Amino acid sequence: MPYWLGLDIGTGGTRALLIDEAGQVRHAHTAPHEEMRMERPLWAEQRPENWWDAALLAIRGVLSIANANGRQIRGVGLSGQMHGLVILDAAHRVIRPALIWCDQRSQPQVDWINRTAGPETVLRCTANPVLTGFTLPKLLWVRDNEPKHFDRVKKLLLPKDYVRFQLTGEFASDVSDASGTALFDVVKRRWSFDLIDQLKIDRDILPTVYESSEITGQVSDQAARDTGLEPGTPVMAGGGDQACSAVGNGIVVPGVVSCTLGTSGVVFAHSDQPHYDPAGRVHTFCHAVKGAWHVMGVTQGAGLSLQWFRNQLAPSSDYGALTAEAATTPAGSQGLYWLPYLMGERTPHLDAMARGGWIGLTAKHTRADLIRSLLEGVSYSQKDGLNIIEQMGIPIESVRVSGGGARSEFWRQMLADVFAKRIVTLASQEGSAYGAALLAMVGTGAYSTVPEMCKAVIHVVASTDPHKNESNIYAAGHRVYQSLYPALQPFYRGVPSTSKSPQE
Ligand code: ADP
Repeated sequence: MPYWLGLDIGTGGTRALLIDEAGQVRHAHTAPHEEMRMERPLWAEQRPENWWDAALLAIRGVLSIANANGRQIRGVGLSGQMHGLVILDAAHRVIRPALIWCDQRSQPQVDWINRTAGPETVLRCTANPVLTGFTLPKLLWVRDNEPKHFDRVKKLLLPKDYVRFQLTGEFASDVSDASGTALFDVVKRRWSFDLIDQLKIDRDILPTVYESSEITGQVSDQAARDTGLEPGTPVMAGGGDQACSAVGNGIVVPGVVSCTLGTSGVVFAHSDQPHYDPAGRVHTFCHAVKGAWHVMGVTQGAGLSLQWFRNQLAPSSDYGALTAEAATTPAGSQGLYWLPYLMGERTPHLDAMARGGWIGLTAKHTRADLIRSLLEGVSYSQKDGLNIIEQMGIPIESVRVSGGGARSEFWRQMLADVFAKRIVTLASQEGSAYGAALLAMVGTGAYSTVPEMCKAVIHVVASTDPHKNESNIYAAGHRVYQSLYPALQPFYRGVPSTSKSPQE
């Protein structure tokens, strides 16, 4: 039986997944990574060599589970955590551990970029404001703090692209992942040489960028021996994990958006035009679909809010019991509001100093109100992201939900009511590795375009429509929720913190 392999270089581990000719998931295997190193506050590093070791284990593992040999694999698609900085020397050795997506040490470098190029130029060149999480400020941190390392840099790669280099010997990336570097012209889908030259970055260190379903090279003889794949197996460009996950959820045509309620919450929309929010509250990146873009808003503490509540206040309850308890009190939680800013907030406030909390607590409130308000606060925050997307002129007909929170029927109904939109659940809940495998199918010619393939292989299994009465209650509740952050902002400015705000 022929298979296509999707490989996702996550933070916790690398997942290898096989799909069949019908685009359905057949087998998967995850190899864990070492703990990320957080030597100092705001720092987060991983060793690229460890990703490659995990990729070997994951690929060998999935082939063994499937009882398949390398000749059955028609193509490989790559997905990965975005924004990480991998730097190689002239002998193509890793110079230092990678600064990964959540590393926030580079505020001085973000300030330098804004002083040197100007925030308007950055927005014009890259369609996004530069944030500490992005790759460029990380490279400049190495320039400023480890000049001996910086002088040796001959190649810059993103996490999945290091694994590609090991697989194929090619230095390549894709448009969606490159979008998160702050070096990429998201509108023109190529490196922004304007900005790169202005900041005196060596153009030669950058990999060649492809559209996500294009072939970037073939599995080398050495990699074939290491992985069990066949030499010459084509490796597609693939995409950043969010773009790949969107492909796996069929967010590849206008009107369909996704809401992923994991630890953080992400609203994600496909766009035929490179719309961007001048305030930078949502990211605009190239999509893994040729000639398309995506817009993305993030609630930092989505599922995390419920997880925190359970861990701190209800350690013996499971999530099902907590949501059942929440259902015993009416919509609106009797005037209680939860602000989900447990890790600061990205969309819409871009404020790492924001802090979580309940507002409106009275003696009549019960634990059910506490839980229900928490789910409502997270849903309002996701609605803020959807509103910005709609205000940018991107249509939203239905919302596809996934992630741990979407397991709850109660929370799905609440999302439908808060969004006042139809909520749809899909047959496959596999994320980025699935999208990467689907891109490999398109790249090897099994389908001619990503939307055509998604239409054929992605199936809706359930849908939830909004209830008018609850929608009205939540519309009023959302207005109150939106008034709370501006009122509290002066307090957040004064909150003592052990760390500096990434967005300050
Ligand atoms: P991650 O983002 O780490 O991959 P998941 O997508 O598994 O995580 O989501 C985990 C979160 O989903 C939990 O923190 C919890 O808030 C929520 N969750 C998981 N199961 C349920 C459930 N049955 N009902 C409601 N929420 C749930």
